[in-house]
Amino acid sequence: MTAAPESGLMACPECDRLHIDLPLRPGEKARCVRCGTVILRSPYWRPDQMLALVMAALIAFLLANACPILELRVQGSISRATLLDAILALWREDRQMVAALVFATGLLAPLADLLAMTALLAAVLTGRRPAYFAPLLRLIQQVRPWGMIEVLMLGVLVSLVKLSHLAQVVPGVALWAFIALTVLLAAVLSYDPRCLWQLPAGRKGAA
Ligand SMILES: [Zn+2]
Repeated sequence: MTAAPESGLMACPECDRLHIDLPLRPGEKARCVRCGTVILRSPYWRPDQMLALVMAALIAFLLANACPILELRVQGSISRATLLDAILALWREDRQMVAALVFATGLLAPLADLLAMTALLAAVLTGRRPAYFAPLLRLIQQVRPWGMIEVLMLGVLVSLVKLSHLAQVVPGVALWAFIALTVLLAAVLSYDPRCLWQLPAGRKGAA
């Protein structure tokens, strides 16, 4: 964490040069005067708009994991699989490392990111700065690089095209939910949660 609102100073994450923490207008970036690194990016979205996006992403996430991604029809027999089924199948086929990576990058990291963002935005909008605020900000910075829903989505689409030569492939509800989730996550991940430090507790809806 580079922002320290109590001191009114902000350190560059690359060279530790201290800067005075001034409020940014929506869309503005603050760069380090020494090395040019972007220290903070002010979001276009207000916290209440962002919370709506995060909640929509959580609903898409639940649908994407609760419903089958696709349905395979071969010679009259039908098989359906959710992402969790695919992970369990990988585990049973002695590919535990791959199963663990898919679970961590496709399920755990995005869910932790979305839940942490929900808690932080809800705290800001209700005018509180609870004790878990800083730990959750750190958690988001640690798990965000591991969230790879878009890579998973690309893999699913490639598999879908390849399987269509072998069997009749019917896209499931989860596939559309994953597409919606990829778009929503792109918007959520563009929001730098460090900006939440700059919102004084009780300043509802301000950006
Ligand atoms: Zn710097």
